[in-house]
Amino acid sequence: MKLYDQHMHTNFSYDSKEELENYLNLNDKFIVTTEHFDTSNPVTKKDDIPDYAAYAKRIDELNQVYNNRLLKGVEVGYVKEDVARINAYLADKDFDVKLLSVHHNGTYDYMDEEVADMSPEQIIPEYYSSMLDAIEAIPSANVLAHFDYGVRVLPIDIDTFKKLAEPYLIPLFQKTIEHQLAFEVNAKSMWKYGNEVLYEYAIPLYLAQGGKLFSIGSDAHSVEDYESHFSDAIALLKKHGVNDVVVYQKGKAIRVEI
Ligand SMILES: [Zn+2]
Ligand SMILES: [Zn+2]
Repeated sequence: MKLYDQHMHTNFSYDSKEELENYLNLNDKFIVTTEHFDTSNPVTKKDDIPDYAAYAKRIDELNQVYNNRLLKGVEVGYVKEDVARINAYLADKDFDVKLLSVHHNGTYDYMDEEVADMSPEQIIPEYYSSMLDAIEAIPSANVLAHFDYGVRVLPIDIDTFKKLAEPYLIPLFQKTIEHQLAFEVNAKSMWKYGNEVLYEYAIPLYLAQGGKLFSIGSDAHSVEDYESHFSDAIALLKKHGVNDVVVYQKGKAIRVEI
């Protein structure tokens, strides 16, 4: 099994126009897209729910032509008030991989411009408490996505981040491990939003709690970003003594050497 990108979007997500075929035409590896499932989305002021019937049908059609290389995925956005319907949606659908994210708090998305002016003392406890709740609330998830999303636009130095976040990150990573979720190395966070330093800090912290599962994702919204910075992500993991990552098929983890 060859490593493949485990975080990508197409026009089945509200914020991407990419076609599934364009990823399939890049190479002959497995392709999985992880489409946005963001209820009560303050960005669009509506529920953004992938049309599963259309998605599954299109994947079946493409799999006839592309040798069954196309898998199904979803990026589940945790929203406290919507947990029952999030789990109801997931219950009767087949996804190979489910990413678990916290994108918003019902009022604002953590990447909204206004967040840049908010206080880290407010955002960090709120964000990591939500993420901890998300793991308990959505037990079928496989991967904890972009742990740093809540601070992507927040101007913060690493020492302040450690001081404020570590009391939350240690129990968060312990919960991640207990629930057998993989820690996502998100290339977009590191090399588009400049949070490499946060991953340099968090990877050994997760390992120190006993973490053993890693997933690599570009978070591509178009083919140009497919497997973006993968060699950098692999080098970062190897530097910390990690020699394999996991990909999920039918919800089962498969180890892949890097
Ligand atoms: Zn996301
Ligand atoms: Zn995403």
